[in-house]
Amino acid sequence: MKIRGKVLIIDGKKVAFSLLEDLKLKIDKLDKKPGLAVILANDDYSSKVYVASKEKHSIALGLKSCVYRFDKSITQGKLISLIHELNENPEINGILVQLPLYSHLCEREILEVISPKKDVDGFHPVNVGKLYAGLNPYAVCCTPKGIVKLLKAYKIKLEGKNVVVIGRSNIVGKPVAALLTNENATVTLAHSKTKNLKEHTKKADIIVSATGHPKLIKADMVKKGAVVIDVGISRQLDGRLIGDVDFEKVKDIASYITPVPGGVGPMTIACLMENTYELYLLQNKG
Ligand code: NAD
Repeated sequence: MKIRGKVLIIDGKKVAFSLLEDLKLKIDKLDKKPGLAVILANDDYSSKVYVASKEKHSIALGLKSCVYRFDKSITQGKLISLIHELNENPEINGILVQLPLYSHLCEREILEVISPKKDVDGFHPVNVGKLYAGLNPYAVCCTPKGIVKLLKAYKIKLEGKNVVVIGRSNIVGKPVAALLTNENATVTLAHSKTKNLKEHTKKADIIVSATGHPKLIKADMVKKGAVVIDVGISRQLDGRLIGDVDFEKVKDIASYITPVPGGVGPMTIACLMENTYELYLLQNKG
């Protein structure tokens, strides 16, 4: 419960855990296991860690997990054929291509081959279009979906609020701005070319920062009582992860704030699991 005048640290792990617990109960009741296919075609250390975590969570939930790991000899054509096969495979309900891909592969073409009804990450233009049109996408991008769920779990009102989203990527900034607009917030989308960011953030009731720029959001940029959602993840030289927000100072001004780690991150994976379950229902409705 929020105590007046005191910051509340948003516990993403707790909200994600409860979402996963609910999901496990629902999955246990199904006749068949929902299937998630994950394609890893790059050598990046973080991507390997993310894919291992997706595999671990899928197995723990009772999903069928298929991970395809490729070395640099993989061709665009072979990857596209695999996706066509997965599109036709009734055991697979969600297909995820871990980004980035090896530099010789064309990301955009590969993502567009995934059937929109199996596009568990919500990156296909059909799902992006549905999101912007305020229609129901088959799946909504996991991190933006997780952010809105987190805000709702803490009963933070969105309607009529001034929100500043910082970062305009296709996987976080733009879709979270669209989702919050659909929730009737007044959204400003800022980015690296925005002039005088502080002028915008100072007016925000809610700040969502997704840049990967450590400590970009300083205390003097935040209005007293604002809600601060930190999506950024940067690894320090000592191995620690930090966000975009100068947490120690901003927490004395904000009403709610997410930590890094333990804020938005756990929601991303929980929403991926939920999307797989929802796509299963969509593909198996009678
Ligand atoms: P990206 O590099 O694709 O986009 C970064 C965006 O930030 C760009 O639009 C850029 O214009 C903007 N930006 C960069 N520096 C800025 C500055 N100084 N002022 C204003 N805007 C600035 O990154 P992305 O894929 O959207 O990810 C953003 C961050 O979120 C990264 O740290 C990433 O690791 C993290 N992330 C976290 C999760 C999670 O689950 N917690 C999921 C996805 C991404």
